[in-house]
Amino acid sequence: MKEVTAARTADAERLRNYLRDESSTFYGHADELFLPANQAELADVVRAANESHMLLTVSGGGTSITGSRVPTNGGAVVSVERMTSTGREPPTGFKEVHGAGFDILLNAADKTAIVPPAITLSALDEILARSGLLYPPDPTEMSATMGGTVATNASGARSFHYGPTRAWIRRLRVVLPTGEMAELHRGEPAAKKGTVHFTAAGRTVGVPLPPSGEYDMPRTKNAAGLYLAPGMEPIDLFIGCEGLLGVVSEVQVDLVERPDQTLTVVAYFGSCDDAFGFVDAAVSDSLKLAEVPHFLSLEYFDRRSLDFMREAHPHIPKKNVAAAVLFEVPYSEFERHNPYPDTCMLSEVEEALAKHRVVSNWAVPGARREEVRLFRHSLPEAVNDFVRRRSGKIGSDMAVPHEQFRQMMRAYEGESAACGVRFLMFGHIGDDHIHLNYLPENDEEAERAKMAYSRLAKTAVGLGGTISAEHGVGKKCILGENGRLIPYLQVLYGVRGLRAIARVKKALDPNGILNVGNMVPPEMLT
Ligand SMILES: Cc1cc2nc3c(=O)[nH]c(=O)nc-3n(C[C@H](O)[C@H](O)[C@H](O)COP(=O)(O)OP(=O)(O)OC[C@H]3O[C@@H](n4cnc5c(N)ncnc54)[C@H](O)[C@@H]3O)c2cc1C
Repeated sequence: MKEVTAARTADAERLRNYLRDESSTFYGHADELFLPANQAELADVVRAANESHMLLTVSGGGTSITGSRVPTNGGAVVSVERMTSTGREPPTGFKEVHGAGFDILLNAADKTAIVPPAITLSALDEILARSGLLYPPDPTEMSATMGGTVATNASGARSFHYGPTRAWIRRLRVVLPTGEMAELHRGEPAAKKGTVHFTAAGRTVGVPLPPSGEYDMPRTKNAAGLYLAPGMEPIDLFIGCEGLLGVVSEVQVDLVERPDQTLTVVAYFGSCDDAFGFVDAAVSDSLKLAEVPHFLSLEYFDRRSLDFMREAHPHIPKKNVAAAVLFEVPYSEFERHNPYPDTCMLSEVEEALAKHRVVSNWAVPGARREEVRLFRHSLPEAVNDFVRRRSGKIGSDMAVPHEQFRQMMRAYEGESAACGVRFLMFGHIGDDHIHLNYLPENDEEAERAKMAYSRLAKTAVGLGGTISAEHGVGKKCILGENGRLIPYLQVLYGVRGLRAIARVKKALDPNGILNVGNMVPPEMLT
């Protein structure tokens, strides 16, 4: 590839880190690593790769669990890790704020910030906390970067209340696969007559959308596939595109005042039905917490998850516990209702818990929220650690419409019991989005778990749900009808849907260089 201004290295030791991700399932190979320090250098690298038809895979924090940042098809890697500042003067109303090794531009009055792609969620949170502000999407893994979370439309526990990353992006700067820069604003003219338009480097780019019936996105929380819908805004093409359509070089996010004062409760139930009943009441707001904003989060742990966590968290009760629900309620409202927040529970919540036969609960005031956050995060981390030492991760990310949730849970239990592989379930029950994780001890068990997983993905789609509500699909494959591997996304959209994605990809990346292998197989792009 021709000379570029960005730092580059072909040192094998240096490259090794970028050839895998947290899935411990995908391994890649690459000839070179590019480390641009600013937006101009990044554009230069992408332009040069495009001119020499060189495959380029974008790397953020490397926390993906789908292989999406792994260069399985070779070529080069471009990491945005040195892009720790926006590198530009603050626009009117913004001021530069430093912290945790990053610079952001903050407009506290307008509750918005312009941030570089490399900033981690934990660093951003640390900086914003000083101004009493919050960037609401909270994917569990706080070492993920802003660029990576935009590319995967990440979400987390509080997305129950706040929605996913997509809802919080006001403006994006993106380097297209041609090396041209595009700036996309929320609220720009929507797609017309089947084409979505935007401007890049002074020219108008038109991207054809699939005809009706060819690509119907599920009506659940969803992170699988491109966002393609009639009347869509151009910015939505790039959020959740898994780096297929461009490299995020700058992000302007919306912020809210920090509800630092929250009450977090882990409620233990004697039966799953009791736990589900409490969640139904919370989701439908039949608790009538008239003055209390909705629950910020509603998370679920099955009995097996609690057993798995007990060694590290001995305070988890042992007897008569079948499931737990973790939830957060804004504390200021709580205080208004109750003068003794450390010892008592919001009375309406307490009544609802009692009605659903809660066994016991662990209530933590806002100042100690981090304890519960770490408690919640320790589970996926421990699961990832466990499977890393054995047969690799087989964990689901499916969500279904609320009315189908219990049927999906029965399918998880039934398929998993039948395949005889140890498993556990936890996750975002408020969004009808549970992670089923298999813990196979050997390759033979892993094969059985993969078959069960494959049947469950089809069940979720049959119930109107999605195969991935937050992680994306990356390079994941699944066993098809004939026992052969097919792209995971094919289960949701069929071959016609994959072709629709490939058409959009070709419109923006005619040489097929960027993040090839994500969502659709490389051969569909030629
Ligand atoms: C323990 C654990 C818990 C997790 N919990 C959650 C969760 O609750 N919710 C959730 O959504 N995810 C979760 N994840 C998955 C992961 O953290 C997210 O997918 C995250 O958004 C990835 O961000 P990253 O910066 O690590 O990106 P990477 O892993 O580096 O890359 C992910 C994808 O984004 C692309 N990308 C990265 N940077 C850019 C950029 N600047 N421009 C364009 N494309 C880019 C990559 O090419 C790749 O396709 C979890 C992971 C772990 C290990």
